[in-house]
Amino acid sequence: MTPSIAQILSAISAISGPCAALSLTTLDQFIRFARHLKPELSLGLPDTATSPESLPSHVVSFLANVLGVDIITISDLWTILRHYIWQLKEAYINPSERVLFNEHGARTARKEHKLAYFMFYPPYTRCPCCNRILNRISRVAVTFFTKDGPFPAYSTSLRCNQESCETRYYLNYCVKIKTHIREYYDEPVPDVIHLEDHSFIQVALSELFTSCTLFAWVSSQNCALIYNHALSAYGQQEVHESKYTLTSTQVWRSFVLVSLLKDWKDRGQTLVMREDVELNSRLKELMCQRNERIITEGQSERLHACNTCEKLIPTDIEGSYKGLRSLRAVVTDGVTLGHPCCKVHNCSEPLQNNRHHWCKTHMDQQRVCVFADCNLPARSGHRTCSQSLHQKYEDYQNLKGKGFFLLRQRLQRAGVQQPLASLDPET
Ligand SMILES: [Zn+2]
Ligand SMILES: [Zn+2]
Ligand SMILES: [Zn+2]
Ligand SMILES: [Zn+2]
Repeated sequence: MTPSIAQILSAISAISGPCAALSLTTLDQFIRFARHLKPELSLGLPDTATSPESLPSHVVSFLANVLGVDIITISDLWTILRHYIWQLKEAYINPSERVLFNEHGARTARKEHKLAYFMFYPPYTRCPCCNRILNRISRVAVTFFTKDGPFPAYSTSLRCNQESCETRYYLNYCVKIKTHIREYYDEPVPDVIHLEDHSFIQVALSELFTSCTLFAWVSSQNCALIYNHALSAYGQQEVHESKYTLTSTQVWRSFVLVSLLKDWKDRGQTLVMREDVELNSRLKELMCQRNERIITEGQSERLHACNTCEKLIPTDIEGSYKGLRSLRAVVTDGVTLGHPCCKVHNCSEPLQNNRHHWCKTHMDQQRVCVFADCNLPARSGHRTCSQSLHQKYEDYQNLKGKGFFLLRQRLQRAGVQQPLASLDPET
Protein backbone atom coordinates (compact mmCIF):
# COMPACT_ATOMS: atom_id res chain seq x y z
CA MET A 1 0.00 0.00 0.00
CA THR A 2 1.25 3.52 -0.80
CA PRO A 3 2.40 5.27 2.41
CA SER A 4 0.75 8.55 3.47
CA ILE A 5 2.68 11.85 3.79
CA ALA A 6 2.48 11.49 7.60
CA GLN A 7 4.10 8.04 7.43
CA ILE A 8 6.87 9.31 5.11
CA LEU A 9 7.58 12.35 7.27
CA SER A 10 7.62 10.39 10.52
CA ALA A 11 10.01 7.84 8.93
CA ILE A 12 12.32 10.66 7.82
CA SER A 13 12.21 12.42 11.19
CA ALA A 14 13.01 9.15 12.96
CA ILE A 15 16.44 9.33 11.31
CA SER A 16 18.68 11.83 12.96
CA GLY A 17 21.19 13.90 11.04
CA PRO A 18 21.03 15.69 7.65
CA CYS A 19 18.18 13.58 6.33
CA ALA A 20 15.68 15.22 8.68
CA ALA A 21 16.94 18.68 7.72
CA LEU A 22 16.18 18.33 3.99
CA SER A 23 13.92 20.88 2.30
CA LEU A 24 10.60 19.72 0.88
CA THR A 25 11.83 20.69 -2.62
CA THR A 26 14.88 18.41 -2.32
CA LEU A 27 12.73 15.58 -1.00
CA ASP A 28 10.31 16.04 -3.91
CA GLN A 29 13.20 16.10 -6.40
CA PHE A 30 14.73 12.95 -4.87
CA ILE A 31 11.44 11.10 -5.26
CA ARG A 32 10.91 12.20 -8.88
CA PHE A 33 14.51 11.70 -9.98
CA ALA A 34 14.76 8.26 -8.38
CA ARG A 35 11.46 7.29 -10.01
CA HIS A 36 12.75 8.48 -13.40
CA LEU A 37 15.76 6.19 -12.94
CA LYS A 38 13.58 3.10 -12.37
CA PRO A 39 14.58 1.46 -15.70
CA GLU A 40 18.26 1.99 -14.78
CA LEU A 41 17.69 0.49 -11.33
CA SER A 42 15.83 -2.48 -12.85
CA LEU A 43 18.90 -3.61 -14.84
CA GLY A 44 20.20 -6.92 -13.52
CA LEU A 45 17.41 -7.33 -10.94
CA PRO A 46 16.09 -10.89 -10.48
CA ASP A 47 12.60 -9.50 -9.87
CA THR A 48 11.68 -6.06 -11.23
CA ALA A 49 8.38 -5.98 -9.30
CA THR A 50 10.31 -5.30 -6.07
CA SER A 51 12.62 -2.34 -5.55
CA PRO A 52 16.32 -3.09 -4.92
CA GLU A 53 17.37 -2.77 -1.27
CA SER A 54 20.18 -0.39 -2.10
CA LEU A 55 21.00 1.89 -5.00
CA PRO A 56 23.94 1.16 -7.34
CA SER A 57 26.95 3.34 -6.43
CA HIS A 58 26.86 5.37 -9.68
CA VAL A 59 23.19 6.27 -9.09
CA VAL A 60 23.96 7.26 -5.47
CA SER A 61 26.76 9.62 -6.54
CA PHE A 62 24.63 11.00 -9.39
CA LEU A 63 21.70 11.81 -7.05
CA ALA A 64 24.05 13.22 -4.39
CA ASN A 65 25.66 15.55 -6.97
CA VAL A 66 22.47 16.64 -8.66
CA LEU A 67 20.63 17.32 -5.37
CA GLY A 68 23.65 18.72 -3.52
CA VAL A 69 23.36 16.32 -0.54
CA ASP A 70 25.75 13.69 0.82
CA ILE A 71 25.85 10.02 -0.16
CA ILE A 72 24.60 8.73 3.21
CA THR A 73 21.49 10.91 3.01
CA ILE A 74 20.71 9.47 -0.46
CA SER A 75 21.07 5.90 0.84
CA ASP A 76 18.86 6.69 3.89
CA LEU A 77 16.19 8.31 1.74
CA TRP A 78 16.17 5.28 -0.56
CA THR A 79 15.77 2.89 2.38
CA ILE A 80 12.75 4.85 3.65
CA LEU A 81 11.08 5.62 0.33
CA ARG A 82 12.03 2.78 -1.99
CA HIS A 83 8.66 0.95 -1.88
CA TYR A 84 6.79 4.20 -2.38
CA ILE A 85 8.98 5.33 -5.29
CA TRP A 86 8.79 1.92 -7.02
CA GLN A 87 4.99 2.11 -7.16
CA LEU A 88 4.80 5.70 -8.41
CA LYS A 89 3.76 6.52 -11.97
CA GLU A 90 6.30 8.30 -14.20
CA ALA A 91 6.96 11.72 -12.62
CA TYR A 92 7.29 15.05 -14.46
CA ILE A 93 10.80 16.48 -14.70
CA ASN A 94 10.85 20.10 -15.86
CA PRO A 95 13.21 21.35 -18.62
CA SER A 96 15.74 22.98 -16.23
CA GLU A 97 15.90 19.75 -14.18
CA ARG A 98 16.46 17.81 -17.43
CA VAL A 99 19.50 20.01 -18.15
CA LEU A 100 20.81 19.18 -14.64
CA PHE A 101 20.24 15.50 -15.36
CA ASN A 102 22.26 15.71 -18.58
CA GLU A 103 25.09 17.74 -17.04
CA HIS A 104 25.62 15.59 -13.93
CA GLY A 105 24.84 12.30 -15.69
CA ALA A 106 27.64 12.76 -18.23
CA ARG A 107 30.36 13.39 -15.61
CA THR A 108 31.21 9.80 -14.74
CA ALA A 109 34.10 8.20 -16.63
CA ARG A 110 32.57 4.75 -17.16
CA LYS A 111 30.41 4.61 -20.27
CA GLU A 112 27.87 2.15 -18.83
CA HIS A 113 27.29 4.47 -15.82
CA LYS A 114 26.50 7.58 -17.82
CA LEU A 115 23.01 8.99 -17.41
CA ALA A 116 20.83 11.55 -19.20
CA TYR A 117 17.19 12.54 -19.02
CA PHE A 118 16.50 10.53 -22.18
CA MET A 119 17.67 6.95 -21.76
CA PHE A 120 16.79 4.11 -24.14
CA TYR A 121 16.65 0.55 -22.82
CA PRO A 122 15.54 -2.78 -24.29
CA PRO A 123 12.06 -3.83 -23.16
CA TYR A 124 13.55 -6.87 -21.39
CA THR A 125 15.83 -7.29 -18.39
CA ARG A 126 15.67 -11.09 -18.81
CA CYS A 127 16.32 -12.88 -22.07
CA PRO A 128 12.90 -13.80 -23.54
CA CYS A 129 14.42 -17.00 -25.00
CA CYS A 130 16.30 -18.54 -22.06
CA ASN A 131 15.02 -16.37 -19.15
CA ARG A 132 18.55 -15.49 -18.00
CA ILE A 133 19.12 -12.08 -16.44
CA LEU A 134 20.73 -9.85 -19.06
CA ASN A 135 23.71 -8.30 -17.32
CA ARG A 136 26.18 -7.59 -20.10
CA ILE A 137 25.50 -3.91 -20.58
CA SER A 138 26.74 -1.68 -23.36
CA ARG A 139 25.91 2.03 -23.48
CA VAL A 140 26.56 4.59 -26.20
CA ALA A 141 25.95 8.33 -26.43
CA VAL A 142 23.28 9.18 -29.00
CA THR A 143 21.25 12.15 -30.23
CA PHE A 144 17.50 12.07 -29.81
CA PHE A 145 15.62 14.20 -32.38
CA THR A 146 12.28 15.33 -30.97
CA LYS A 147 9.67 17.93 -31.93
CA ASP A 148 11.22 20.15 -29.22
CA GLY A 149 14.71 19.88 -30.70
CA PRO A 150 17.63 17.47 -30.42
CA PHE A 151 18.74 16.18 -27.00
CA PRO A 152 21.71 14.19 -25.73
CA ALA A 153 20.72 10.67 -24.70
CA TYR A 154 22.20 7.23 -24.01
CA SER A 155 21.21 3.99 -25.64
CA THR A 156 21.67 0.81 -23.63
CA SER A 157 21.82 -2.64 -25.14
CA LEU A 158 21.88 -5.93 -23.22
CA ARG A 159 23.44 -9.14 -24.42
CA CYS A 160 22.53 -12.74 -23.64
CA ASN A 161 25.64 -14.91 -23.60
CA GLN A 162 23.84 -18.23 -23.61
CA GLU A 163 25.35 -20.34 -26.41
CA SER A 164 21.95 -21.03 -27.99
CA CYS A 165 20.87 -17.35 -27.84
CA GLU A 166 23.86 -15.05 -28.53
CA THR A 167 21.48 -12.13 -28.90
CA ARG A 168 21.85 -8.44 -28.19
CA TYR A 169 18.68 -6.56 -27.25
CA TYR A 170 18.07 -2.90 -28.17
CA LEU A 171 15.11 -0.53 -27.81
CA ASN A 172 13.19 -1.57 -30.95
CA TYR A 173 14.87 -4.81 -32.00
CA CYS A 174 17.28 -7.58 -31.15
CA VAL A 175 20.31 -8.70 -33.16
CA LYS A 176 21.24 -12.36 -33.56
CA ILE A 177 24.99 -12.07 -33.26
CA LYS A 178 25.97 -15.23 -35.14
CA THR A 179 23.71 -14.69 -38.14
CA HIS A 180 23.84 -10.87 -38.19
CA ILE A 181 20.06 -10.66 -38.39
CA ARG A 182 18.07 -7.79 -36.89
CA GLU A 183 14.55 -8.67 -35.76
CA TYR A 184 12.12 -5.94 -34.73
CA TYR A 185 9.99 -6.75 -31.69
CA ASP A 186 6.42 -7.84 -32.19
CA GLU A 187 4.82 -4.65 -30.87
CA PRO A 188 2.84 -1.70 -32.26
CA VAL A 189 4.88 0.90 -34.15
CA PRO A 190 6.91 2.49 -31.30
CA ASP A 191 6.96 6.20 -30.38
CA VAL A 192 10.74 6.36 -30.73
CA ILE A 193 12.74 4.80 -33.55
CA HIS A 194 16.38 3.72 -33.32
CA LEU A 195 17.37 5.35 -36.60
CA GLU A 196 21.13 4.87 -36.82
CA ASP A 197 23.84 3.71 -34.42
CA HIS A 198 23.98 7.13 -32.76
CA SER A 199 20.60 8.69 -33.48
CA PHE A 200 17.03 8.16 -32.40
CA ILE A 201 13.97 10.00 -33.69
CA GLN A 202 10.43 10.57 -32.43
CA VAL A 203 7.96 8.92 -34.80
CA ALA A 204 5.71 12.00 -34.38
CA LEU A 205 8.54 14.11 -35.84
CA SER A 206 8.96 11.75 -38.79
CA GLU A 207 5.18 11.96 -39.37
CA LEU A 208 5.44 15.77 -39.32
CA PHE A 209 8.03 15.61 -42.14
CA THR A 210 5.78 13.22 -44.07
CA SER A 211 2.87 15.68 -43.79
CA CYS A 212 5.11 18.58 -44.87
CA THR A 213 6.09 16.61 -47.98
CA LEU A 214 2.55 15.44 -48.69
CA PHE A 215 0.71 18.73 -48.24
CA ALA A 216 3.34 21.36 -49.01
CA TRP A 217 5.83 19.54 -51.29
CA VAL A 218 8.69 20.19 -48.87
CA SER A 219 11.85 18.29 -49.85
CA SER A 220 13.76 16.23 -47.29
CA GLN A 221 16.58 18.78 -47.49
CA ASN A 222 14.15 21.58 -46.61
CA CYS A 223 12.52 19.48 -43.84
CA ALA A 224 15.97 19.14 -42.30
CA LEU A 225 16.70 22.87 -42.75
CA ILE A 226 13.37 23.87 -41.16
CA TYR A 227 14.08 21.54 -38.25
CA ASN A 228 17.60 22.83 -37.71
CA HIS A 229 16.55 26.49 -37.88
CA ALA A 230 13.09 26.55 -36.33
CA LEU A 231 12.60 23.56 -34.02
CA SER A 232 16.12 22.93 -32.85
CA ALA A 233 16.18 25.39 -29.96
CA TYR A 234 17.87 23.08 -27.48
CA GLY A 235 20.72 24.73 -25.65
CA GLN A 236 21.42 27.09 -28.62
CA GLN A 237 25.14 26.45 -28.16
CA GLU A 238 25.06 22.68 -28.45
CA VAL A 239 22.84 22.60 -31.53
CA HIS A 240 25.75 23.92 -33.56
CA GLU A 241 27.56 20.64 -32.97
CA SER A 242 27.20 18.45 -36.02
CA LYS A 243 25.68 15.56 -34.06
CA TYR A 244 22.65 17.76 -33.24
CA THR A 245 22.11 18.73 -36.87
CA LEU A 246 19.48 16.72 -38.66
CA THR A 247 20.38 15.75 -42.25
CA SER A 248 18.18 15.12 -45.27
CA THR A 249 19.40 11.50 -45.27
CA GLN A 250 18.08 11.06 -41.74
CA VAL A 251 14.71 12.56 -42.78
CA TRP A 252 14.47 10.02 -45.62
CA ARG A 253 15.66 7.10 -43.54
CA SER A 254 13.13 7.80 -40.80
CA PHE A 255 10.34 8.02 -43.38
CA VAL A 256 11.32 4.74 -45.02
CA LEU A 257 11.87 2.92 -41.72
CA VAL A 258 8.56 4.08 -40.18
CA SER A 259 6.71 3.21 -43.41
CA LEU A 260 8.28 -0.26 -43.51
CA LEU A 261 7.44 -0.90 -39.86
CA LYS A 262 3.83 0.15 -40.46
CA ASP A 263 3.56 -1.96 -43.60
CA TRP A 264 4.98 -5.09 -41.96
CA LYS A 265 2.81 -4.49 -38.87
CA ASP A 266 -0.36 -4.09 -40.99
CA ARG A 267 0.32 -7.52 -42.46
CA GLY A 268 0.85 -9.05 -39.01
CA GLN A 269 4.56 -9.67 -39.61
CA THR A 270 7.71 -8.58 -37.82
CA LEU A 271 10.33 -6.71 -39.77
CA VAL A 272 13.59 -8.58 -40.24
CA MET A 273 16.70 -7.15 -41.90
CA ARG A 274 20.40 -7.86 -42.27
CA GLU A 275 22.69 -6.19 -39.78
CA ASP A 276 26.00 -6.63 -41.59
CA VAL A 277 25.36 -4.39 -44.61
CA GLU A 278 25.05 -0.64 -44.93
CA LEU A 279 21.67 0.77 -43.76
CA ASN A 280 20.68 2.30 -47.12
CA SER A 281 21.17 -1.05 -48.90
CA ARG A 282 19.10 -2.82 -46.21
CA LEU A 283 16.24 -0.32 -46.55
CA LYS A 284 16.43 -0.51 -50.35
CA GLU A 285 16.26 -4.31 -50.26
CA LEU A 286 13.13 -4.15 -48.09
CA MET A 287 11.51 -1.49 -50.28
CA CYS A 288 12.16 -3.73 -53.31
CA GLN A 289 10.50 -6.63 -51.48
CA ARG A 290 7.50 -4.40 -50.81
CA ASN A 291 7.31 -3.26 -54.45
CA GLU A 292 7.55 -6.87 -55.68
CA ARG A 293 4.71 -7.83 -53.37
CA ILE A 294 2.51 -5.00 -54.64
CA ILE A 295 3.29 -5.96 -58.27
CA THR A 296 2.31 -9.60 -57.66
CA GLU A 297 -0.48 -9.21 -55.08
CA GLY A 298 -1.80 -5.73 -55.86
CA GLN A 299 -3.05 -3.21 -53.35
CA SER A 300 -6.34 -3.42 -51.50
CA GLU A 301 -7.10 0.23 -52.41
CA ARG A 302 -6.98 -0.71 -56.10
CA LEU A 303 -10.02 -2.98 -55.68
CA HIS A 304 -12.16 -0.24 -54.18
CA ALA A 305 -15.42 0.47 -56.02
CA CYS A 306 -18.48 2.35 -54.77
CA ASN A 307 -21.44 4.07 -56.40
CA THR A 308 -19.62 7.41 -56.28
CA CYS A 309 -16.34 6.32 -57.86
CA GLU A 310 -17.66 3.87 -60.44
CA LYS A 311 -20.52 4.16 -62.91
CA LEU A 312 -21.80 1.39 -65.15
CA ILE A 313 -22.82 2.66 -68.58
CA PRO A 314 -24.43 0.75 -71.45
CA THR A 315 -22.06 -0.47 -74.17
CA ASP A 316 -22.09 -2.42 -77.43
CA ILE A 317 -18.72 -4.06 -76.72
CA GLU A 318 -18.91 -7.77 -77.27
CA GLY A 319 -18.62 -9.95 -74.19
CA SER A 320 -19.37 -7.08 -71.81
CA TYR A 321 -21.14 -8.01 -68.60
CA LYS A 322 -24.89 -7.47 -69.02
CA GLY A 323 -24.15 -4.92 -71.76
CA LEU A 324 -22.53 -2.56 -69.28
CA ARG A 325 -19.14 -0.95 -69.17
CA SER A 326 -17.38 0.33 -66.07
CA LEU A 327 -16.38 3.98 -65.89
CA ARG A 328 -14.08 4.97 -63.06
CA ALA A 329 -13.24 8.42 -61.76
CA VAL A 330 -9.59 9.41 -61.67
CA VAL A 331 -8.22 12.43 -59.83
CA THR A 332 -5.05 14.02 -61.15
CA ASP A 333 -3.30 17.30 -60.54
CA GLY A 334 -1.64 17.28 -63.95
CA VAL A 335 1.83 16.62 -62.57
CA THR A 336 3.48 13.55 -64.02
CA LEU A 337 6.38 12.09 -62.14
CA GLY A 338 8.71 10.26 -64.45
CA HIS A 339 9.94 6.81 -63.65
CA PRO A 340 13.63 6.67 -64.58
CA CYS A 341 14.35 3.45 -66.46
CA CYS A 342 16.83 1.99 -68.91
CA LYS A 343 16.56 3.51 -72.40
CA VAL A 344 16.61 0.11 -74.07
CA HIS A 345 12.99 -0.64 -74.98
CA ASN A 346 11.21 -2.88 -72.44
CA CYS A 347 14.35 -3.39 -70.33
CA SER A 348 13.21 -3.77 -66.71
CA GLU A 349 16.62 -3.90 -65.06
CA PRO A 350 16.85 -1.13 -62.44
CA LEU A 351 19.28 1.74 -62.99
CA GLN A 352 22.30 1.83 -60.70
CA ASN A 353 21.70 5.53 -60.23
CA ASN A 354 18.66 7.67 -61.14
CA ARG A 355 20.90 9.94 -63.21
CA HIS A 356 22.02 7.06 -65.45
CA HIS A 357 20.47 6.55 -68.88
CA TRP A 358 21.20 2.84 -69.10
CA CYS A 359 21.16 -0.13 -66.74
CA LYS A 360 24.33 -2.04 -65.88
CA THR A 361 23.76 -4.59 -68.70
CA HIS A 362 23.23 -1.91 -71.34
CA MET A 363 25.85 0.51 -70.07
CA ASP A 364 27.93 0.01 -73.27
CA GLN A 365 25.13 1.88 -75.10
CA GLN A 366 26.60 5.12 -73.84
CA ARG A 367 29.43 4.63 -76.34
CA VAL A 368 27.01 4.44 -79.28
CA CYS A 369 25.70 7.45 -81.22
CA VAL A 370 22.43 8.69 -79.70
CA PHE A 371 20.64 9.07 -83.07
CA ALA A 372 17.85 6.56 -83.64
CA ASP A 373 18.99 3.59 -85.72
CA CYS A 374 22.59 4.86 -85.87
CA ASN A 375 24.80 2.21 -84.32
CA LEU A 376 28.16 3.86 -85.02
CA PRO A 377 30.40 4.47 -82.01
CA ALA A 378 30.20 7.94 -80.48
CA ARG A 379 33.29 10.16 -80.70
CA SER A 380 35.33 10.38 -77.55
CA GLY A 381 33.81 13.01 -75.22
CA HIS A 382 30.70 13.26 -77.43
CA ARG A 383 27.33 11.63 -77.71
CA THR A 384 27.20 11.42 -81.50
CA CYS A 385 29.21 9.61 -84.18
CA SER A 386 31.49 11.23 -86.78
CA GLN A 387 28.75 11.62 -89.41
CA SER A 388 28.63 15.34 -90.13
CA LEU A 389 24.84 15.71 -89.68
CA HIS A 390 24.89 13.97 -86.32
CA GLN A 391 27.96 15.98 -85.29
CA LYS A 392 26.29 19.26 -86.28
CA TYR A 393 23.21 18.33 -84.32
CA GLU A 394 25.20 17.84 -81.15
CA ASP A 395 27.21 21.02 -81.69
CA TYR A 396 23.97 22.94 -82.07
CA GLN A 397 22.56 21.27 -78.98
CA ASN A 398 25.52 22.55 -77.02
CA LEU A 399 25.14 26.11 -78.30
CA LYS A 400 23.96 28.55 -75.70
CA GLY A 401 20.83 30.72 -76.10
CA LYS A 402 19.30 28.93 -79.10
CA GLY A 403 15.63 28.01 -79.42
CA PHE A 404 15.23 24.26 -79.58
CA PHE A 405 12.00 24.55 -81.54
CA LEU A 406 13.96 26.24 -84.39
CA LEU A 407 16.24 23.23 -84.61
CA ARG A 408 13.31 20.87 -84.63
CA GLN A 409 11.68 22.80 -87.49
CA ARG A 410 14.94 22.77 -89.43
CA LEU A 411 15.43 19.06 -88.92
CA GLN A 412 11.87 18.41 -90.03
CA ARG A 413 12.47 20.48 -93.16
CA ALA A 414 15.66 18.56 -93.88
CA GLY A 415 13.75 15.27 -93.42
CA VAL A 416 15.95 14.08 -90.55
CA GLN A 417 14.43 11.40 -88.39
CA GLN A 418 13.50 12.21 -84.77
CA PRO A 419 16.46 11.77 -82.41
CA LEU A 420 16.34 9.79 -79.19
CA ALA A 421 14.64 11.28 -76.18
CA SER A 422 18.04 11.95 -74.60
CA LEU A 423 18.49 14.96 -76.88
CA ASP A 424 15.00 16.25 -76.22
CA PRO A 425 15.23 19.14 -73.75
CA GLU A 426 11.67 18.50 -72.55
CA THR A 427 12.43 15.04 -71.18
ZN1 LIG B 1 19.14 -16.06 -23.85
ZN1 LIG C 1 -15.47 5.14 -53.74
ZN1 LIG D 1 18.76 -2.09 -69.69
ZN1 LIG E 1 25.37 8.65 -85.58
